[in-house]
Amino acid sequence: MTNRSILLIEDEQDLADLLQLHLRRACDELCVVHDGITGLDAVQQRPWGLVILDIGLPGASGFTICRHLRSLHARTSVIMLTARDTEEDRIRGLEIGADDYVTKPFSVRELLARVNACFRRSAAYDEPTANRRLLHKGLALDPNSRQVNDGDNPVGLTAREFDLLAHFMQHPKQVFTRTQLLDRVWGHGHDGYKHTVNSHINRLRSKIERDPSHPEHIVTVWGVGYRLG
Ligand code: CA
Repeated sequence: MTNRSILLIEDEQDLADLLQLHLRRACDELCVVHDGITGLDAVQQRPWGLVILDIGLPGASGFTICRHLRSLHARTSVIMLTARDTEEDRIRGLEIGADDYVTKPFSVRELLARVNACFRRSAAYDEPTANRRLLHKGLALDPNSRQVNDGDNPVGLTAREFDLLAHFMQHPKQVFTRTQLLDRVWGHGHDGYKHTVNSHINRLRSKIERDPSHPEHIVTVWGVGYRLG
């Protein structure tokens, strides 16, 4: 069953209250905390379906929490809330394992669209039709267990890295632009978010490629995008 629980970690009381009001209807269970230390405790207690995470928090930053969360639960989706003028923060967040981000100030509608896309993706992988085991050059991807093996060795992927690799393996030979990947893997095709795709491809390559500078699994099609090698 899809885990439709949300943990929101946001120290701005007004924003947290507003989001709480709307998120409650978008999930089965919602927990809201207002500081980094309580946030760290909360991610440790149980696997959440989705964690929505502010970066600037008292006690422990969103980066610290994200890193800690990733060491415990690879399948939890993470959406970071970042400030408009801090591209560095966004890239750093994606590099340590966030799946997505929205830029403050954002509309509640935009965030809800991302949240729903997260849950839709999780649900898609819980359906039996999507459960065929996929193979590519020594990599084996099992949608049931969401496990990837390189030969006999398990590869630790985050939820989004898994979805991205699964998308390529389900569509061998097909070239995807960054915008198409955003649409199909993230569920939104926002122009300003293309480096989300680049960061995830880089992270995925560092985990599955023997030599990430000469990739064999996910190859770059110059001027277009990416395809399975
Ligand atoms: Ca804050």
